Amino acid sequence: MNTISLSQGSGGIESNKLIGELFFSRFDNEILRKAEDAASLDLEKIAFTTDGYTVSPPEFAGGDIGSIAVCGTCNDLAMVGAQPKYLSAAFILEEGLEIALLERIADSMARELKSVGAKIVTGDTKVVPRGSVDKIFITTSGIGTRKAEDISASALQNGDAIIVSRSIGAHGATIFAAREGMGFQSDLKSDCAHLWPAVDALLKAQIPIRAMRDATRGGLAAVLNEWARQSNVGIEVAEQNIPISREVRGICELLGFEAYNLACEGTFVLCVDKEYIQAALDILKNSTACREAAHIGYVTEAHLGMVSIANPWGSRRYMEYPSGELLPRIC
Ligand code: MG
Repeated sequence: MNTISLSQGSGGIESNKLIGELFFSRFDNEILRKAEDAASLDLEKIAFTTDGYTVSPPEFAGGDIGSIAVCGTCNDLAMVGAQPKYLSAAFILEEGLEIALLERIADSMARELKSVGAKIVTGDTKVVPRGSVDKIFITTSGIGTRKAEDISASALQNGDAIIVSRSIGAHGATIFAAREGMGFQSDLKSDCAHLWPAVDALLKAQIPIRAMRDATRGGLAAVLNEWARQSNVGIEVAEQNIPISREVRGICELLGFEAYNLACEGTFVLCVDKEYIQAALDILKNSTACREAAHIGYVTEAHLGMVSIANPWGSRRYMEYPSGELLPRIC
């Protein structure tokens, strides 16, 4: 049998076989192996998050729905200074899904779990009739142990520095190119990656972090506008300091997008006291996912709740809060 059948979501022997052979073998750990109704965990000071993943297509340059389902949830934990520990994974599978595709997705998940040291300890699999869902949707929830306090979107202060961890927009541009069937941008791939290693290094170096947020849907523009509103501050950034790859620039020029609005899956924005700019950049540039880290601007007392961007000639405009739906099913 090469495709998923409804009986594999029945809760009977076929479900048991699918889950055992496809998922348990890959995600194996002592808690999952117990196969209880709920995983028992001994933890205190935790962070908890959840996300649904519906990306189309499910496989793309630089990752797949499995890698973003693990990295995305682990990254949300990392953004509050929590080390990703335990995940749940709920799969909604369409009848007729190729088993080989599901195996590749589960392999990606296992690889990303291993690389960050987290475990899937509980899960669920449902199969729905053909046409009820597009191939595969995954929901992952995550628990992390908090290694820092007070990292908050409400904590930005006048004079603080804004840093971005790498060039922006790669995930959004990759998904768009894949959907449009553009085969010419061979170097373009999703930035999908774990952010915990970089965050861990910042925390170990005792960099006092005000705020961190991964620039997923809505991209850099959404993060900066959220922060400006939540902290009731202004944010000023310089266009020439924001790293954007040649490939992403090309897609944006071709299709009329703003790179600032494009989703990322392994890029975060960091706010620190301006005395720590160089220390933070040095640490980030030592982390594989953050080699292009750059200081892009400051928190100000001017234009509260807004983000202002200066071009190289000094003229300013507002970086708008993204509105409407640029790309549905981006993650
Ligand atoms: Mg997030």
